[in-house]
Amino acid sequence: MTKGTPSQGKRQKRVHTVCRRCGKVSFNYAKKTCAACGFGRSAKLNKWGWHSHLARQTW
Ligand SMILES: [Zn+2]
Repeated sequence: MTKGTPSQGKRQKRVHTVCRRCGKVSFNYAKKTCAACGFGRSAKLNKWGWHSHLARQTW
């Protein structure tokens, strides 16, 4: 097993698909949750408090 950039070529499985709520490719097929906004896990949008200008965005 090689780590680093050459391993990126092995990533052919689609783990995340486009999220219905935030539109990012962060919706996990297996978990049925969105890694970016928390869709499927939380009723509220998962905002990033550490990036205030991004948290202000409305999706
Ligand atoms: Zn999302």
